[in-house]
Amino acid sequence: GSTIGILGGGQLGRMLASAAAELGYHTRVLAPDAESVAAQTASSFTRADYHSRIVLDELASSTDVVTYEFENIALDPVEYLASQLPVYPPPAALRVAQDRATEKGFVEALGGRTAPWRKVTSLDELRGALAEIGAPAILKTLRLGYDGKGQVRIRDIADAEAAWDAIGARPAILEGFVTFGHEFSILLVRGVDGAMVSYPPPWNEHVDGILARSSLPAPVEIARHWTEAAALAGRVADKLGYVGVLTLEYFATDNGPVFNEMAPRVHNSGHWTIEGAVASQFENHIRAICGLPLGDTGLTAAHIEMENLIGEDAERWAEILAEPGAHLHLYGKTIRPGRKMGHVTRLAR
Ligand code: ATP
Ligand code: MG
Ligand code: MG
Repeated sequence: GSTIGILGGGQLGRMLASAAAELGYHTRVLAPDAESVAAQTASSFTRADYHSRIVLDELASSTDVVTYEFENIALDPVEYLASQLPVYPPPAALRVAQDRATEKGFVEALGGRTAPWRKVTSLDELRGALAEIGAPAILKTLRLGYDGKGQVRIRDIADAEAAWDAIGARPAILEGFVTFGHEFSILLVRGVDGAMVSYPPPWNEHVDGILARSSLPAPVEIARHWTEAAALAGRVADKLGYVGVLTLEYFATDNGPVFNEMAPRVHNSGHWTIEGAVASQFENHIRAICGLPLGDTGLTAAHIEMENLIGEDAERWAEILAEPGAHLHLYGKTIRPGRKMGHVTRLAR
């Protein structure tokens, strides 16, 4: 096909639309946001609610394949579109990734290691789960969390009620606190024909629940888990009949890689691939959903580092532009504290 529909108007949609254009595709972005930064790179942009059947029918009749750039989109419109044309990644992946308990259970059934966890739907259940798992622990809303929002640390069993209130008394999972040395992610690409490639895993450092930095090559504490972690990602992708880029976040521990969560999409911890890999995650996502051969995931430099520009960090743009070899990406968003405004990738020979 020659026109790609993209649901979601954020920076991931923006970078997907750029990659699609480089491969000669037109893109149509559909998003409800007044301020869509994907509108600047897409061939066309429609501001509309995902629940409008008229808008969805119009998207389906004017595109050849549809993808999405965030996992918190409502499942119904995605399934509705999938009844009319290919939608990649398949809605089944969204269904699993939208619910932390379903996701953890799914991955465990495929042999993945997770933190001890319990689904809790009331304060009483939270108390029971805390008694079993113990403190410290983390309470996360079952749905809709991102960038560390909708989660709270529990240092002491006596803090159950405060934690329950802090997440808005909503269905949640309680996770035992994992003692880890490093965090990393697997970015795997699966084609329509089932072919798979994955990128070397970045070391991901978070500050206040938000990704701050991804660097490669990862230290040996991570690299030694690559094969096992990528194999699990491959089983997840096969089981879901996945097409596109799939991301799994992990903790590196002495007992092996511990699965944290997955994202059925391109991922912030893969932004370094724009300059740091032969084919970027965005290009590879487009290749996969369009049925093209997958691109080379090899590194282009000996050392690669991606730094996120959060909130006021973006004011350093002039300084970053003056750095030789720094690749600055600004997303065209209005500055707000804690908001992902852009990123910079630095390569060293
Ligand atoms: P994202 O923006 O990546 O989707 P999120 O809001 O879904 O984030 P998580 O990835 O679940 O949140 O958690 C954010 C960070 O909090 C993790 O990257 C990790 O640093 C820390 N964290 C989460 N769960 C645990 C755990 N069980 N033990 C220790 N640290 C944890
Ligand atoms: Mg998440
Ligand atoms: Mg995460």
